[in-house]
Amino acid sequence: MRPVVIAANWKMHTTPADAGELAATIAARTRVDAPVTRVICPPYVCLAAVGAALAGTAVAVGAQNVHHELTGAYTGEISAPMLAGLASWVIVGHSERRRDAGETDELVGRKLRRAVEAGLRPIVCVGEQLVERETGQAEAVVRGQIHGILTAFGDATFGDAAADLDESGAVIAYEPVWAIGTGRNATGADAATMAGVIRAAIAATGLVDLAAAIPVLYGGSVTAGNIGEFLAEPAIDGALVGGASLKPDEMAGIVARAGLTAAARSGGAG
Ligand code: PEP
Repeated sequence: MRPVVIAANWKMHTTPADAGELAATIAARTRVDAPVTRVICPPYVCLAAVGAALAGTAVAVGAQNVHHELTGAYTGEISAPMLAGLASWVIVGHSERRRDAGETDELVGRKLRRAVEAGLRPIVCVGEQLVERETGQAEAVVRGQIHGILTAFGDATFGDAAADLDESGAVIAYEPVWAIGTGRNATGADAATMAGVIRAAIAATGLVDLAAAIPVLYGGSVTAGNIGEFLAEPAIDGALVGGASLKPDEMAGIVARAGLTAAARSGGAG
């Protein structure tokens, strides 16, 4: 059974002075009697403060990015080994980084490799642009992203890449770019269709077990008001939440709804 995951992407918000208090508030407000995996991804400089605030809670800490090399002349960058002790999860391939830092599927695959090597649980983001959806290319685009990322990942020179990815606890976030930060979300049915496309694309690379086991999250203007539409879809296993993740009331509502899904899927009440 796949876990239900709610991950918060704080983007370039909060400071080391205020991030810990917000994280502690969200942790307290999102406690549910159901197996919901909660992750908060603050800016790099807030990882230590958030980690300290979440010590003793079940909420994990994630980074929002990681470099594709281990060390070297990369001014301003952070490598996977540097995140040891600061984060247990990491987002790779967010569309804002594809847009602003020119990240390609090939680069995202190499970042994924570094994350897995370092024992970080990756949240791998894929999703189409508005024009691609409007011209009927959404499925092909996302299929191509998965293929490109996993091809670059499979070039790994370490161990058995497939087994390592299987064991990494990786999740995929389907995030249609036109829905991120716009207040315009996909429908639950469209998100479920795309989750099927993602799993088929993973299976097509030979990773058949991973395709069935990997959680697929939806991301794009998720709120407490619309999370139910996504979690009603058996193919959707949670959400990557941006703007609403900075609001404790919203996070409380989102995780409470996720708790109902987690309880129902694990055969309990709810
Ligand atoms: C995101 O940052 O991944 C995201 C989905 O943002 P928002 O929820 O604000 O659309």
